[in-house]
This record gives sequence, structure tokens and C-alpha cells, in this order.
Amino acid sequence: MLLTLGVKNLFGCIVGFKKSEWHMRSGVNREMFARLLVQIYQAVNPCITLVDGILAMEGQGPGKRGKPRYLGMLVGGSDGLSVDWTICRMLGIDPDALQTLKAARQLGLLNEPIRITGDMINVDHFELPVLGPLTFGPKLLQKFMRKHLVQRPLVDQNHCQLCGECWQYCPAEAITPDDNIIGFDYDRCIRCYCCVEICPHGALAARETLAGKVIRRISGL
Ligand code: SF4
Ligand code: SF4
Repeated sequence: MLLTLGVKNLFGCIVGFKKSEWHMRSGVNREMFARLLVQIYQAVNPCITLVDGILAMEGQGPGKRGKPRYLGMLVGGSDGLSVDWTICRMLGIDPDALQTLKAARQLGLLNEPIRITGDMINVDHFELPVLGPLTFGPKLLQKFMRKHLVQRPLVDQNHCQLCGECWQYCPAEAITPDDNIIGFDYDRCIRCYCCVEICPHGALAARETLAGKVIRRISGL
């Protein structure tokens, strides 16, 4: 989803196995997942959204693979979409690049003018994660291409402590422990990157395959 701000954070309100189930249902389609997040935001309807960006994370997160960056900013408001929109502007990002804001606009939300009080800090060179496509190529070949070309979670054996957090959480049951290493079933994996986020030892990262990188560059995706 590019960034976790006020709206996406509310996915945490989905409890227990429902969270995994919804990840499974919409995790391979960013637009659908973004719409789901906006609808959760509407259902929860928080009276205030407060985004703590005092110490933010940039780079290839989520989890310990991202880089902490001190921004010293705290953004709050009565409308979470406006809060997210304002943060995008502070980071110099087109708000439509954030799928949740794009979905909100398409759903007819975000029509009201936003009134900003306080300092509008401009953050330079905020490093965003590289988002690879979730699917590739014609439908018939998508299973094969997804397995070999699409970005996926990879483990760094030097950091993995075989603690079990990732395989216990994985909504697709795509991770299995072997003797000294964990293995991924990339046919099952929905690329939700919950494992990357949850790993307490920073042993997992989302990585593009070499073939995927080459094809993406050639095709300009
Ligand atoms: S959560 Fe991280 S450290 Fe634990 S088993 Fe998974 S990859 Fe290894
Ligand atoms: S292996 Fe990781 S990215 Fe794939 S479905 Fe499981 S938790 Fe999500």
C-alpha cells in the first residue's frame, strides 16, 4: 500500500482470523484492498486520526527492514483521509499514489476542502518502498509468472532465529519450517508481507526476482 498512515492503520481493528481471511480475499489486488481499507475506515468512523510521524519509517519496510527516520511531525484531524492527504503533500507524494486516497476519491469521498492549521513541513527525499506488480502477463500464464517473476518475501538465513512468528501468522499458510531454514510456497503466498512486518529479527524482506526486475524494466511496468 506504499505507506501506512491513518486509514490503513485501521485494518488493525479487524480481529482474529477475519484479518487473514480478508487479506486472502483481496491481497492480490491492490485496488480492491485499498477500497476495503477505505470502507473499514468509514465503518469504524473514528472521531480523530492522529499520525505519529515523530520517528517515521522509510525505505523497503514494513518491519525491521525499513529505516527509521526522524521527522518530528505529528499530524491529526477529524477526517482521516484528509490527514493522509496532507501527509502525502508534506512528503512530496502525489496523493493518488496512495491507493487508499485514490480509492476514496473514486468512491466520491475527499470532496471537502481541507483546512490546515499548524506548520506544513516539507520533507525532502523521503524514500518510498519499491512496489512490484502483484500479477504479470496473460491470465493463462499468471500462475507461472506470479511464481517466478513477482516480488516475494525472502529470508536472510543469517538473521532467522526460527522463532515461528511468521509461519504461525501467515494467512495463506505458505511458510513451512524445515531443519534449519524456513521455506515458502510461492503458489500459495498472496504477497501480503505480513511475515515481513511481523518478523522480530528483521530476517525477511520483500524482494523482486531478477527475471521480474528485467521484465518490468523492459515492459516499463
Ligand atoms: S519470524 Fe523471522 S526469525 Fe522468526 S522464523 Fe520467521 S523469518 Fe525466522
Ligand atoms: S508468506 Fe508472507 S507474504 Fe506470503 S502470504 Fe504468507 S505472510 Fe503473506
